Amino acid sequence: MTGKSETPPRWVCEFGVGAEKQALPTGAELFGLKGASLLDMSALGLPVPPGFILTTEACLAWHDNGGTPPPGLREQVMRAWERLQQRLRQQGRPQLVSVRSGARESVPGIMDTILNLGLNDANVEDLARGSGERRFAFDAYRRFVEMYGDSVMGVERRHFEEKLEAYKERHELVADADLSADNWRAIAKAYQAVIRKHAGENFPQQREMQLWGAVEAAFRACASERARAWCRAQGIADCWAVAVSVQAMVFGNMGENSATGRLSSRDPTSGERHLCGQFLRDSQGDDIAASVRAPAPLGREADGALGRSLEETMPAAFAFLQDAATRLEHHWRDMVEVVFTLERGDVWLLEARPGRRSARAAVKVAVDMVDEGQSGEAEAVLKISPSSLQELLHPSLDAKAEYEVLARGLAASPGAASGAIVFHPDDAENLERQGHKVILVRRETGPEDIRGMQAAVGVITTRGGITSHAAVIARGMGRPCVCGARALRIDEKGEALYAANRRLERGALITIDGGSGQVILGEVARIQPEFSGALKRLMGWADKYRRMRVRANADTLTDAKTAMEFGAEGIGLCRTEHMFLDEERILAVWQMILTRSAQARQEVLAKLLPMQREDLAALFELMAGLPVTVRLLDPPLHEFLPRRQEDQQRMAEASGVNLDNVRRRIAELRESNPMLGHRGCRLGITYPEIYEMQARAIFEAAAQATRITGAAPEMEIMIPLVALKRELEILKERITAVAERVRGETGLPLSCKVGVMMELPRAALRASEIAVLADFFSFGTNDLTQTVFGISRDDALGFLGAYSREGILDQDPFVSIDQKGVGELIRLAVERGRAERGDIVLGICGEHGGDPASIAFCEELGLDYVSCSPYRAPIARLAAAQAMLRSSAAGRSDKPDP
Ligand code: PEP
Ligand code: MG
Repeated sequence: MTGKSETPPRWVCEFGVGAEKQALPTGAELFGLKGASLLDMSALGLPVPPGFILTTEACLAWHDNGGTPPPGLREQVMRAWERLQQRLRQQGRPQLVSVRSGARESVPGIMDTILNLGLNDANVEDLARGSGERRFAFDAYRRFVEMYGDSVMGVERRHFEEKLEAYKERHELVADADLSADNWRAIAKAYQAVIRKHAGENFPQQREMQLWGAVEAAFRACASERARAWCRAQGIADCWAVAVSVQAMVFGNMGENSATGRLSSRDPTSGERHLCGQFLRDSQGDDIAASVRAPAPLGREADGALGRSLEETMPAAFAFLQDAATRLEHHWRDMVEVVFTLERGDVWLLEARPGRRSARAAVKVAVDMVDEGQSGEAEAVLKISPSSLQELLHPSLDAKAEYEVLARGLAASPGAASGAIVFHPDDAENLERQGHKVILVRRETGPEDIRGMQAAVGVITTRGGITSHAAVIARGMGRPCVCGARALRIDEKGEALYAANRRLERGALITIDGGSGQVILGEVARIQPEFSGALKRLMGWADKYRRMRVRANADTLTDAKTAMEFGAEGIGLCRTEHMFLDEERILAVWQMILTRSAQARQEVLAKLLPMQREDLAALFELMAGLPVTVRLLDPPLHEFLPRRQEDQQRMAEASGVNLDNVRRRIAELRESNPMLGHRGCRLGITYPEIYEMQARAIFEAAAQATRITGAAPEMEIMIPLVALKRELEILKERITAVAERVRGETGLPLSCKVGVMMELPRAALRASEIAVLADFFSFGTNDLTQTVFGISRDDALGFLGAYSREGILDQDPFVSIDQKGVGELIRLAVERGRAERGDIVLGICGEHGGDPASIAFCEELGLDYVSCSPYRAPIARLAAAQAMLRSSAAGRSDKPDP
């Protein structure tokens, strides 16, 4: 805030012909996106109607001053207004303006543009006489009264629309084009009566009042809950302050050689380099968006059915626009989008912004601009939003398709798929074998669902969060998945799904979009992914700039192959319990968990050992030369107990005990809080034979892979859910003893790193003493988030939605690391771990390893790698490169330029 005696800051900046020369910084921060584009275009000498901009600082100062103008603001605005009118008088132009607001990011829902401001009952008559276009003048006036009434005085548009319709009916007029100057004049009057009725005030006739009213309405609108909620949802802090641009009107509604239009310097869908866009003759403002008539294309190559192009009908204007777009592209080093008006053949540019584009176009444009010498490789890498790559790596819904959304859940695993509803995993498998595409719908999933998930083209659950079993497994498999779709109700017995007042039976066709969390009725057209040449080149550039390694969470050979294809540089998490999920193996796992006798456990472990060994040997062989982190068993028991009656029966038969015994044992093992129960290394401590079997399988597999590849694999054994140094000490000793035995038996000098999965606050706090024994820490941020927040991974859905709506949490902490809380603990563990042991390897393997914001945080902490699901590896590679480039630019890092 400025004190009363201080000179107020410069809150207003002029532009366009005759503008006062000022040395002001440019940029969207201060002038909003639209304002900054106007300054840039005027500086380039492009034809921009003159005007002035109130800065975002003016907006902030107005709010700081309790929603009234701070001293000096009004004077600055009025001075610029006077000067603008003078400039317009000199140019012989009508002294009418448009008022637009714009934040530094594009925020929908701030005030709509107001056109023709400055008109009143008196001067509209002058305009009608002076312009020689009576109809045009009164049409402009009624538009202004309506826009002003809506945006500034809060009168809903429908009241004006109703009035217009009633007038037309009374006068037996059909289309707007049928209305004469006198009709519009009468309507402008009638609209003023609408305002009086609904706003309780008169429409202001005084021009300064009109202007000031519009400016304050923009200031007010930007602080609206709607605008703020949008910013919060986009993860943009403080984007709500707006700049307001006041700009002389130019008129696209002055006959056949006048028009309004919108251009894109390249094709926004494909990224091809040619001018794209639409124009509408004899129109104003939002007429194109409001679809008053069908617009025509700009370029000749567009579909002729859309009408004759601008290129054919007004080639000079087309060539002018093409040149302006090229100049702006060069200036911004990016594709651009421009709103323009043709006024009696003259081209005017009203606003510009970086061009909106599909993910495919974004990659093509970024790469093409490097080839054209317009930008560098690092700049290209920074231009692409990592999450947008999802669209290129998975099938996505065709943007042109129309559909009915039945429910929304969490976007748990990206991709779009259509299939018939099934409720049971066996059903999914059977139908898949018969060649059907199915979507498996479950309340939640467990190990017995895995094969069904594999057989399905997509998965829906009605419970469970972003780190639930279904979400983690589906992401690993690359299956689209929507989790926690609570609006759906499953009737498993009746084999029906209730959604949005509909009953859908088994076999009904639905579509899911795991990238947006939508569950949709029927089949929807989809676009297939392509790992195009442009994307490959871009990824190659990203790899040059990143410092952190990218590994993948992969449990099977298929996962690992996908991971390699997508450029992963190792496996950061192999969840060994997931290697036991096939029908035969899961039986042994159930036996291993349920048996009371160590002897019986040894017997089933002996059966599991060769399976585990063979799987790991194949994995080590495939990943030769790259690190593979094998996590010892960590089954949250509730996920690994047979739940279905037929499975319990199978288990009883295989173990030679009766079903009641099996049930009793399951009941005994049932825990109140399984996520905090007998899992992770606690299982390894209480049943030593389990981890010993696993250690043996790992070392024997390593021996096998060594014999085949000629080099020992870079394996790492990771111990889950460690809280105490002593746990690690005991388990490490046992692993070392097994390693010693296998070395003796094979004669091979096998070695292996042993580290901990940092997923409990106590371990993070005691990182110094744990680091003495651990070769690495891998932050298991799924569990760490759960335990730091004390929020159950599986039950959080019940309230996280409300927390986000209330603005208590900006985002789901299971999706993006809570940097202030969980992140602080990670930072502390990193510092303590490194202080104790300089060469400790640090990584992250929770789901956050594929989240761009979390990856940037990992770069800030200097972690060595991130590990994510295989399909997210390209996203992680790009995000890691961007984090590195941004931190070098901010002087936080000194990785040399490649
Ligand atoms: C974690 O807790 O972050 C993790 C990766 O392990 P899981 O999801 O298997 O518990
Ligand atoms: Mg965990």
